[in-house]
Amino acid sequence: MNKNKIIVIGGGYGGLRTVEKLAKNTQNEIILFDKNPYHFMQTDVYDLIANEEDFAQVTVDLFTFCSGFDNNVTFLKQEVNNIDFVNKKVITQINRYSYDYLVIAVGSRTRYMPNIIGLREYAYGVKALHRAMYFKQKFEMSLFNRVQESGTSCSPINIVVAGGGLSGVEIAAQMASFSKEFYRKNNFICRKLNIVLVNASEHVLRGIDKVLVEKTDKRLKELEIVIKNNSKVVEVTKESVKLDCGETMPMDFMIFAGGIEPNALVYNLLLDKNEKGYIVTNNYLQTEKYYNVFAIGDCTTIYNNNEIVAPTADTAEQMAEVCVKNINNLINSKPLVAHKIKSRGILIALGSGYAASKIFGIRFSGYLAYGMKKLVERVYAKRLDNRSHKGCKKIFCD
Ligand SMILES: Cc1cc2nc3c(=O)[nH]c(=O)nc-3n(C[C@H](O)[C@H](O)[C@H](O)COP(=O)(O)OP(=O)(O)OC[C@H]3O[C@@H](n4cnc5c(N)ncnc54)[C@H](O)[C@@H]3O)c2cc1C
Repeated sequence: MNKNKIIVIGGGYGGLRTVEKLAKNTQNEIILFDKNPYHFMQTDVYDLIANEEDFAQVTVDLFTFCSGFDNNVTFLKQEVNNIDFVNKKVITQINRYSYDYLVIAVGSRTRYMPNIIGLREYAYGVKALHRAMYFKQKFEMSLFNRVQESGTSCSPINIVVAGGGLSGVEIAAQMASFSKEFYRKNNFICRKLNIVLVNASEHVLRGIDKVLVEKTDKRLKELEIVIKNNSKVVEVTKESVKLDCGETMPMDFMIFAGGIEPNALVYNLLLDKNEKGYIVTNNYLQTEKYYNVFAIGDCTTIYNNNEIVAPTADTAEQMAEVCVKNINNLINSKPLVAHKIKSRGILIALGSGYAASKIFGIRFSGYLAYGMKKLVERVYAKRLDNRSHKGCKKIFCD
């Protein structure tokens, strides 16, 4: 019997869930491509930046992960540059690879707006691990330098976080909370850390439940974060950030979490895309032109009852499940199933020991929500770790 050749591009939340589900059928021969050798758990990045976790805790090795299956999954660390949909080939710098079915799960990237002078040069994005790592190290070094200076001077560390969405809010809160604890625990005398959150809309977390917004706003203020709503960054230099109102703020470093866009591969692909450049799919998550090509996760936009479903890790995983069902149905000549994906909830980490959440319509906050957030992260990481551990044992014991 012929094997089903399936290629998955992108080892993120959507891609890995797809691989896990597809691999259950040993007739499926799967190749996973990623430009990086690891899966990056972006949802934990706030802990990485604030030095609560190291990079090993927010990554999973894709070689060992893929080896943990029954020999029907191969991982290739190669960047996909293009796809020849007519001849069903995925193109990398090294080779052209044939597929019967293809899943595009390449996520999105930070959008460095070209009209903001100096943004790309002087601000750090958090969607790529190497950038988050630079920032983490710079943050720790700044704390160390201030400690070193104590006794002679005590200049503040000025941090600007641009973007009042989920990632900007979580990072600002976690850094404020971490540094408070750091200074307190070590009894340091020099304790000046200024965090400014610049947010383009009238309140943080635009589009999210009003009660959660109020709780978040209150908590950020308790953490002494200065929120500048209705403000846009117009210029960044090595030492300062200028806002559209004309104000210039001192800055030691800046995180930019102010927007995402489709990545370079998606730009290159000859597929139907929406006005923002994301891949358009039908209700079965197939691309418009090619029945055997699916797009899932942040590289596409889906709707439920005419409303956009927020692009999250949970959405990407739900899409993966529908996509795998439909690939199986195509293989078995069964009717396809339409997705009914909707957001199941939101958990916002707001510094150590505190989160605000709404899950299946129920709101709760404080330590319970924080515990829940940590539990969700740990369960997810454990599942992948177990597979990777199995693969590792196989490689070194086989
Ligand atoms: C700071 C931050 C906090 C967040 N917090 C939450 C949260 O609390 N809860 C939540 O649900 N979501 C959260 N998100 C959003 C969530 O991380 C994304 O929605 C999710 O990562 C999307 O998954 P994905 O599989 O579509 O893409 P990704 O997880 O981004 O994976 C894409 C993969 O494709 C690979 N790739 C890209 N281009 C190529 C190419 N050309 N060739 C080969 N490989 C390629 C990349 O290396 C990457 O591994 C957060 C995001 C950020 C940045």
